[in-house]
Amino acid sequence: MTTGGKLLTSILDAPHPPEGRRLFGLSNQQLAEALREFSLPSYRIRQLQTALYRQRVASLDAVFTWPRNLRDRVAAAGFLVGLPSILETFRSVDGTERHLIAGNDGQTVETVWMPEGDGGDDDDPSEPDPSNPSPSGDPAPRGWSRATVCVSSQIGCAVNCQFCLTARLGIIRNLTAGEIAGQVAAVLNRQQAEPGRDRINLVFMGMGEPFLNFDAFMGAVRLLVGEMGIPESRMTVSTSGVVPGILRFAEEPVRPRLAISLNASNDAVRETVMPITRKWNIDDVIDAVRKVPLRARERVTFEYVLLGGVNDRTEHADEVVKLLRRAKFPAKVNLIAWNPGPDVPFTTPGEADVARFQQRLRDQGIPAFIRRPRGRDIYAACGQLKKTGNSDPRAVTGEPQ
Ligand code: SF4
Repeated sequence: MTTGGKLLTSILDAPHPPEGRRLFGLSNQQLAEALREFSLPSYRIRQLQTALYRQRVASLDAVFTWPRNLRDRVAAAGFLVGLPSILETFRSVDGTERHLIAGNDGQTVETVWMPEGDGGDDDDPSEPDPSNPSPSGDPAPRGWSRATVCVSSQIGCAVNCQFCLTARLGIIRNLTAGEIAGQVAAVLNRQQAEPGRDRINLVFMGMGEPFLNFDAFMGAVRLLVGEMGIPESRMTVSTSGVVPGILRFAEEPVRPRLAISLNASNDAVRETVMPITRKWNIDDVIDAVRKVPLRARERVTFEYVLLGGVNDRTEHADEVVKLLRRAKFPAKVNLIAWNPGPDVPFTTPGEADVARFQQRLRDQGIPAFIRRPRGRDIYAACGQLKKTGNSDPRAVTGEPQ
């Protein structure tokens, strides 16, 4: 287990990759600085931004608003788009796709595409009724009417949650803002999805703890909102409870919705499954969340992975109710039956147990939803991302079906 001291050491040690002359991931100001040697007027920078983030071009050659001569000169100086590419895809029987995406230094990171989401947003009034997914009555394009992309923020993770496969990697390095936003761009390109036309939700719940890579994570959010046109209300970031990160997040004018990965109803149980509790206990986390100014109708989500015999009993549900009443801010609970992984010593509770836990919360006035496991068969489900499977027979190439 990671102690608080060791955890902080690994946070400070998490390296960043060399950026080189990649353009994807840079803001307007950063692009202008990077290309200063070309003395470009501001409209040329804006044209480049549109090509990078709206058209999501793969190469400078495809920036058709620029004259060929300019494209050639910038490329000859060593600049490149640097959009992350999908190296390998694993497709689940339920339509979920897990992608291995190349980082700037050749390391891979995992990103998951979930057509129709996983039920975690079923209470969102802006979402279509799952039984009537197309409000206009038109057939859903390409077989899905909405989708969720699960995005990674680090390669590996230092937090060491005991039920999570990613934790087995330890922290390898932080991702850059471009690598985080680039996962979304790569997946949107593969699916030919367009924010604005298609209902795309983002959850920052992949590999890593976003609040331990705060600046790059928020840089990516700004690109995704401001440049790629995905509303922040369609994004949710989940933290294991990094209090300084929550406090910084509270100050951000543009931010996703917040989810706390709770996973236990008291500190004693939480310490055994999430050692980070020794550094910031549940009350510390709740106090920090109180500082986040919630928007109209916004609720804080508490993610709760149900581990058979560990945190799934009636008394645990009752403790969660007390905890959320004490919190005194609008909240809901997303329940996730633990997704198994090799050599991870937990059991998955049965469906009836999960439903009982949900009912216990609902009976006491706590909104509670069950997140459907997506892509369990390809290790794409929550807590299963671990760069697995170059030789996996379910690896697919080519276009999505
Ligand atoms: S659950 Fe999230 S925070 Fe915990 S170890 Fe896994 S990736 Fe890290």
